[in-house]
Amino acid sequence: MTPSTVRMDPLTGQIVVISPSRIPPPPAFGPGHLPTVATCPFCPGHEHMTGPTIAAMEEGGAWVARAFANRRPGLRPEEPDHPIGRGLLRGHTGVGAHEVIAESPDHVHVADPRAAMSLAADRLQDLRRDGRFGAVTWFRNRGVEAGSSQPHPHSQVIAVPVAPSLLESVIAHQAAMPGLVQRLVQAARDENRVVWEGNGVVAFCPWAPSAAFEVWLAPTDAVPWMSLDRSRVDGLADGLAEVERRLHEGFGFCSHNTVLFDGPNRAVDAGFSWHVRLRPRLVPIAGFELWSGGAIQPIDPVHAAAVLRGFVT
Ligand SMILES: [Zn+2]
Repeated sequence: MTPSTVRMDPLTGQIVVISPSRIPPPPAFGPGHLPTVATCPFCPGHEHMTGPTIAAMEEGGAWVARAFANRRPGLRPEEPDHPIGRGLLRGHTGVGAHEVIAESPDHVHVADPRAAMSLAADRLQDLRRDGRFGAVTWFRNRGVEAGSSQPHPHSQVIAVPVAPSLLESVIAHQAAMPGLVQRLVQAARDENRVVWEGNGVVAFCPWAPSAAFEVWLAPTDAVPWMSLDRSRVDGLADGLAEVERRLHEGFGFCSHNTVLFDGPNRAVDAGFSWHVRLRPRLVPIAGFELWSGGAIQPIDPVHAAAVLRGFVT
């Protein structure tokens, strides 16, 4: 297996993982070839089709959420740990981690989202102990438009040797204004952009959404790392499940990406707070988005929040 590398874009500073192992076998990818229960590697009884179990939440002797090594990892803990490249072309070896969490034994429905989120917090906390990793995160891709080749509910945990430039930007903005995320929560309350609230977590449509019906979830108090904010893990799981339910109800199946912006693997200023962004894939990413890193999208967030609040059943 050719080892992965992490490379820095010399002009933007963005990190890119070059991972030859992630090239999928030709017929197994695409909407016409999605696994069924019979062929799904994430369904119970098929554990041999995935990497080895790393941790699991169990109930009555059976797993309800299961973390395992990605069969085609973008980054691996076994890789050496040192910078690569020279001159303008800089990077790092592909040391890191890439894990998958099967979020439910059921192929379609997640019966216990809290167990899956608690397992994710466990895995983040464990990987953060490794000083070779610059940052660790959790994300969930749902639907082919969101880059998922597996319909079975699952999420991923990834550790990278160098913190991404976007995360560094989030850190810098919060360092300049401690408590910034909670101020954004208050602004969302003031402007009637809150969609859901419970167990110390608020879900709201952001002032400058990068996609139609984008929703952010944030804690009511600043805590740098979600994995250390255990009292709010249930609130995050409940909020995400509720927002996803409303999106699916409103738009039919709604492909989306959910991404955690956690603190990096180093100390951060007091007042830094984790937050999560759920980005529906209703509108494709196009040229303006690639140039700006932002978006052109048609829905005002106050309207989006009203629509999402209306999808309550
Ligand atoms: Zn399955």
